[in-house]
Amino acid sequence: MTAGPAHGIDASATPAAADGVDARSRVGPNAVIQLGHALRAQHGKALAIQVYEAAGLRGWLDQPPEDMVDERAVDQLFHALRGRLAAEEAAAVAAEAGARTAEYLLANRIPRPAHGMLRLLPQPLSARLLLRAIGANAWTFTGSGIFRARPGSPHRVEIVSNPIAIPGCVWHVAVFETLFRALVAPHARVRHDSCCLDGAPACLFEIDPHGGYEGRGGLEIPRTARAAVSKAVGG
Ligand SMILES: [Zn+2]
Repeated sequence: MTAGPAHGIDASATPAAADGVDARSRVGPNAVIQLGHALRAQHGKALAIQVYEAAGLRGWLDQPPEDMVDERAVDQLFHALRGRLAAEEAAAVAAEAGARTAEYLLANRIPRPAHGMLRLLPQPLSARLLLRAIGANAWTFTGSGIFRARPGSPHRVEIVSNPIAIPGCVWHVAVFETLFRALVAPHARVRHDSCCLDGAPACLFEIDPHGGYEGRGGLEIPRTARAAVSKAVGG
């Protein structure tokens, strides 16, 4: 088993430059699509319309983009979300959107046989393979940022100059945590203590497969957001 598509995750759709936005400054449409689903599920369509209108992206609520989108649009949506909701509520929506994005990847980008194999392998090996697979697809969520992964204890993921950072980066936390819980360790927890929003050069995500961050402080994602993640992953 090797890196990239060879272990089952489709990384074929290389983004192309279009409408004047550098291809490297684009992210996958799921960031938008799943945010719309999560927002409607938690707060109803009227509020979803307000958020998308505030972001200047009203059309995307009913007709979500199918191709890569400008990373700045996603940032605008996250900004509008925080403008319309209390911080914890906005975090809960972003976390559910992240969990839904991971669920989409699990259902559509990672073949079922790979799920079974990753679950059977020893944790350090399955984590290493999953991190490689995430890296092969990193262009879908890092945009102009730079993705790095270092397996270890804990496993570390970095996004240098993360273009869609939000407080606590709960969207990313939920994506990584949902993927790790589904394929590597059911109690995996992700901690995010170093963030571009706080002036760090990179957003750093530390993944403990044994859930060892429980009650250790740090930038835990809010309980409501954690509940949304748990609901989305059935755990
Ligand atoms: Zn961050």
